[in-house]
Amino acid sequence: MADAPGDVQLFVDGSYTPGSGSDRYPVRSPVTGELIGSVPVPTAADLDAAVAAARAAQRGWARTNVWERARICHAIGDALAARVEELARLQTLEQGKPLAESRGDITEAATLFHLHAEDAVRLTGETIASTDSGKRMWTFYRPVGTWGIITPWNFPLLMFAEFVAPGLATGNAHVVKPPAHTSFTVLAAMSVLADAGLPHGLVSVLPGEGPTGAALVAHPGIDAIGFIGSSATGAAIQASAGLKRSIMECSGNGPLVVLADADLEAAAKAAVYGAYVCSGQVCCATERVVVDASVRREFVDAVVAAADEVRLGDPFDAATNLGPLNNEGVAAKMDRHVADGEQRGAKLLRGGRRRADAPTDLYYEFTVIDGVSPDSLLATDESFGPVVPVLAADGDDAILELANRDRLGLQAAVFTRDLSRAYRFVEELETGQVVVNDSTCWWDINMPFGGAGGRRTGWGRIGGKHTLLGMTDLRTGAIQL
Ligand code: NAD
Repeated sequence: MADAPGDVQLFVDGSYTPGSGSDRYPVRSPVTGELIGSVPVPTAADLDAAVAAARAAQRGWARTNVWERARICHAIGDALAARVEELARLQTLEQGKPLAESRGDITEAATLFHLHAEDAVRLTGETIASTDSGKRMWTFYRPVGTWGIITPWNFPLLMFAEFVAPGLATGNAHVVKPPAHTSFTVLAAMSVLADAGLPHGLVSVLPGEGPTGAALVAHPGIDAIGFIGSSATGAAIQASAGLKRSIMECSGNGPLVVLADADLEAAAKAAVYGAYVCSGQVCCATERVVVDASVRREFVDAVVAAADEVRLGDPFDAATNLGPLNNEGVAAKMDRHVADGEQRGAKLLRGGRRRADAPTDLYYEFTVIDGVSPDSLLATDESFGPVVPVLAADGDDAILELANRDRLGLQAAVFTRDLSRAYRFVEELETGQVVVNDSTCWWDINMPFGGAGGRRTGWGRIGGKHTLLGMTDLRTGAIQL
């Protein structure tokens, strides 16, 4: 277990502050149901102060030599890595995911500061031939300015780092709004960033709910928006953001595709893994499996067998690999999706309910459901819970058609032993990334991760140098010799 964080403060312009309001959000842990602390509800004045500090600090930061910015990012990466255990415990207490996963998230967040420090010093422009022999033209990258960063509750510190690390490395400033109920880890990490040498004002943290996020998006001092969250919220943000630059990382809905020649045991293990990591509350979770009808029975048997490895329980216990869901909203969505699936003829093979004898109502049993109708919520909507929904289709063309029917296009996976089929599915599945012979829930910090154009999953890329390109402007210089 971790110590309860208690009544914490906002982080604005380099220091913790109670803020100018008097309201607070009480926060309960999904692990125990106990009240673990509270965070201030930020006011318009707090937002103004954070934005003003960011804008003032950003001008000097943009002029700071990139090697110095990289040095500070490396120092932050080292400092976070030294605090993994403490931050991981806090994150598990507020988020609910198994401690081993939280350790992985915090380590990955620390590594992102190193990765982007290295990317930033290698971000080079080019010299372009002019049609005018008296002219020289060249390009280089400038920071966009002050970003409003809005993050979800499933990876509290990692999603913060996914924007703040590349943003700092390239000379930007940030006002970050994590969800109020999962903001303790980010707020605690701010003292680590400050001690590592982060200049005042470049990163402020104002936890809050929708209205705080909406005020941040609309604030005239915010130049650009970095958003990770649902497609519905993303669309609302976009409607208000107007011409502000944005990187939008929204909802996903798989699929995991299993072709007739696949290694069925490996595919089953990948399907189960992608559904229990973070209790299925991952944008690239298994969500939907589309299997060739000729191997469906064998595949489903393998999924049920692999599900025996899932241990639902106390996320602080090393034997647990499935913790509680984070909040009642996702648990109620799981109830709704499973009931709808059964009503449309699907067969529940495991789980499908909350565990009665758990400390909170959020411990959802690992669920396997077969014969899912393409019209059911399990297939058409992101479930965001620990469920493997199995749909079947006859042959590659029908599988592709069914897999691409969904409007969300984030990350897919395909299992096959045939290189030509693998290539075809990588090219024709309409998602931003396609993983061959591993889980939809596989990613790499150096992988450009994001939604496919024409779908409803957003745009821009998180990962590697592509986030740096998204958080900078290409500037062109032209000179008359
Ligand atoms: P959400 O959309 O409910 O909330 C996300 C954030 O937006 C929160 O901080 C929330 O307070 C804020 N918000 C809500 N209404 C707002 C408004 N009107 N204006 C501005 N901000 C507002 O999403 P969630 O439930 O926190 O997260 C789960 C979703 O995030 C899932 O759909 C998941 O797929 C997605 N996600 C995507 C990625 C990715 O990389 N594509 C990664 C993680 C999560």
